[in-house]
Amino acid sequence: MTTDSKELKIKRILIANRGEIACRVARSCRSLGIESITLFTEKEKELPHASVGDFGFNLGEGSLAETYLNISKIIEICKEKKVDAVHPGYGFLSENSVFANELEKNGIVLIGPSAHSMELMGDKKASKISMEKLGVPVIPGYHGEDQSHAGLKKEASKIGTPLLIKATAGGGGKGMRVVHDLNEFDSSLDSAKREALNAFGNDQVLLEKYIVNPRHIEVQVLSDSHGNHFHLFERECSIQRRHQKIIEESPSSALDDKLRKAMTEDATKISKHINYLGAGTIEYILDEDGSYYFLEMNTRLQVEHPITEAVTGIDLVKEQIRIAGGQKISFKQEELQQTGHSLEVRLYAEDPDNGFLPSIGDINYRGIPSHGVRLDTGYNDGNKVTIDYDPMLAKVIVHKATREESIREMSYALNSIPFLGIKTNREYLMRVLDHTEFKKGVTFTHFVNTYEDDLKKVELNSTQKAKAIATYLLNGGKHDFNVEQADAWSQLSGFRN
Ligand code: ADP
Ligand code: ADP
Ligand code: MG
Repeated sequence: MTTDSKELKIKRILIANRGEIACRVARSCRSLGIESITLFTEKEKELPHASVGDFGFNLGEGSLAETYLNISKIIEICKEKKVDAVHPGYGFLSENSVFANELEKNGIVLIGPSAHSMELMGDKKASKISMEKLGVPVIPGYHGEDQSHAGLKKEASKIGTPLLIKATAGGGGKGMRVVHDLNEFDSSLDSAKREALNAFGNDQVLLEKYIVNPRHIEVQVLSDSHGNHFHLFERECSIQRRHQKIIEESPSSALDDKLRKAMTEDATKISKHINYLGAGTIEYILDEDGSYYFLEMNTRLQVEHPITEAVTGIDLVKEQIRIAGGQKISFKQEELQQTGHSLEVRLYAEDPDNGFLPSIGDINYRGIPSHGVRLDTGYNDGNKVTIDYDPMLAKVIVHKATREESIREMSYALNSIPFLGIKTNREYLMRVLDHTEFKKGVTFTHFVNTYEDDLKKVELNSTQKAKAIATYLLNGGKHDFNVEQADAWSQLSGFRN
């Protein structure tokens, strides 16, 4: 691998985020010899991200707007602490062009793309128009000017059902409604617009043909300021609940070399066309017949970036920092390979047996990941999980030679980190991993709905409960134990098989 000998001018970075991603970015800063400053709020003093950097800044109390989304306050901190650059993580201000512009005005480097790229790609309508012009396939539908109810309804009847109403400013699966029957169009449009206005302060929508059985495939891209626009292959993120990813893998079992080449070449064509800078992701929908369509570009580091790091051996955060410092990407496209298979699951504080409702509580035993497993988390034993932030507790990443081995390794890994004390989706994830169709690689975005019955919790009978208690005691019996949540302990002993 080649490295640029030019010394990196970035010496101190402010991480404008929280939780696992703040911890993860701090780790790469440390290994590059860069100082990091993290932010936390009064209630988060005990959380790892408060103390993981060289310095932690207390944002005090208040709403999100007063803390993590408070642009003027964050700029003030940057100036006071004399930081050279800001890493925004994902979510929060990571795709906020106002923030990008403010940083630039103040001579602070944003570790990310230009405000222009963010604006273009943050608008699903503008980006679709731009992609159409470039000759990249987009999902058929309506992304014109007319936002009137009557006009949209007319367009909807032209597209036909099923169709998808989507907020142009959307993200995180919000502001989307599937319409199966045109009679439902009016109420779906109203609720999509209401949700979009609430979440994004913008109620514009577009309409798309709803692809019935697709896979979600995305390509990681990386561009520097020296004209290099590279890709780091694909990730498949078809296992989703409420349009949000919960299991991701690389490589995808759906791509052959020809399709991989076409999708990755289109991805680098897009970055080149928009003169992109830094790390980004081109998301596609892959239809059953092998056609693929551009979905959106995320102009930031993605939650699931670690699986790409695993199969390529590239630290994406280090690359982001080097690029922001004006250096070249540290490798050449032709040097990159996908090695083995990597799987990530997102552990959420939520109740899969009750509509995936977020849950709260104290983590009284987190656990220690089994050897060779990557655990990216913002929580330790004893930490409180509140409703104030995203319910994601941790990401668990494994990397093995084959998909089959990765799946087995992941089930094992999940046993080692029970996150006791709160309801989580951990056992639910294990049930997905254990599903025959998942094991066969027959994954699609409605997997979770299609196999809803198969994925339901198996109620333990009294003998099984007794065995679970015995297993728990045999395993040390040191931490709190709830027999109603004893599924994992029962799996540990293998008696369910
Ligand atoms: P990824 O493709 O990386 O999984 P997601 O769309 O799931 O991205 O979003 C990642 C995180 O950012 C989630 O915590 C999500 O809630 C948050 N997020 C994404 N887009 C927005 C947005 N426009 N506004 C607020 N939060 C967002
Ligand atoms: P967000 O910005 O919220 O991530 P996306 O446009 O990326 O929104 O879509 C999120 C998910 O919704 C996709 O991964 C896919 O599962 C589903 N989806 C989006 N558009 C379509 C479509 N036209 N047909 C079928 N599924 C879709
Ligand atoms: Mg998306």
